[in-house]
Amino acid sequence: MKIRKEVLEFQPYRVLEGNYKIWLDKNENPFDLPLWLKEEIFWKLRGLHFNRYPHITSMPLREALAEFLGLDVSNIAVGNGSDELINYLVRMFEGKYIVTTPPTFGMYSFYSKLYGIPIVEVPLDENFRIRGDEIAEKAKDALAVFIASPNNPTGNLQPEEEILKVLETGVPVVLDEAYVEFAGKSMLDYVQDYPNLIILRTFSKAFGLASIRAGYMIADSSVVDALYRIKSPFSVSSVTMAIAQTLLEHYEVVEERVRFIVKERERMYEELKSYAYPSDANFLLVKLDAYNYLLDRGIVVRELSGRLQGHIRITVGKREENDEVIKALKEFAGEF
Ligand code: PMP
Repeated sequence: MKIRKEVLEFQPYRVLEGNYKIWLDKNENPFDLPLWLKEEIFWKLRGLHFNRYPHITSMPLREALAEFLGLDVSNIAVGNGSDELINYLVRMFEGKYIVTTPPTFGMYSFYSKLYGIPIVEVPLDENFRIRGDEIAEKAKDALAVFIASPNNPTGNLQPEEEILKVLETGVPVVLDEAYVEFAGKSMLDYVQDYPNLIILRTFSKAFGLASIRAGYMIADSSVVDALYRIKSPFSVSSVTMAIAQTLLEHYEVVEERVRFIVKERERMYEELKSYAYPSDANFLLVKLDAYNYLLDRGIVVRELSGRLQGHIRITVGKREENDEVIKALKEFAGEF
């Protein structure tokens, strides 16, 4: 038996586990669903046939999303987290390589490496903005360009005019809008004009449903059609669909939390302005090498490497959690 060398080159995806007090490392929503909403979900689940496979192309959730977004179901696909969709998108188009814009979300290159797909990197500029002209130039033989906006881990939205330069090439552009609800600005309306624009979204962040694994894609119907030709047929469970649909029906709960998180994000930014970058997402990039210092105080954040060595990424949490982080970071920086 021989395991492929591409597989052995991977380090298992690890996250810190243990008995820490404050978890601000995965850009999760700090609030669980209110009990009344969970009870509504439990009631729905009672009526589910647990013995049956879920709908093969996730129609119930796609129809709910179509109504929510004012789009046609033929433009919407759902996956087991947006990660599952990325896994297919790197293999769906003709071309020689993918283009990514580091520092950015790691899963675009993760899946590409696994399938032996070359990766061409066009790094963000010194303000963490994409370089539209350079990407367009490098995209000539690309199978797809992956751009996150707001970007993870830098937190900034990418300028529309730069994204448009890339879209004009006609190469598939996967625009990952995982944090869009915190930014209040989307490129969704461009899907009609650019059949090569593929938007990815997730229920894991603003919706607070990281546990149920649901993400969705908005794209030209030819891309949705192609995805359902190759997608693992039952990867989105009936339980997941029922929960996601319930949240779409109670979007006011999501909106209220987004408002709170954005307010807290701005408060944290004001407090930490000397070391933090402005953010359009639910986390802040902070230029302080304080990972271990925070961990010693029971606070888990994300430690960054490479070009962002010496930086940490802090998810916006509950008010008391944010207070503790602000205090600890000011101590670390010698402000107290
Ligand atoms: N895209 C970006 C930019 C992300 O930061 C994340 C989560 N960290 C995802 C996608 C994956 O989300 P999901 O839980 O839907 O797989």
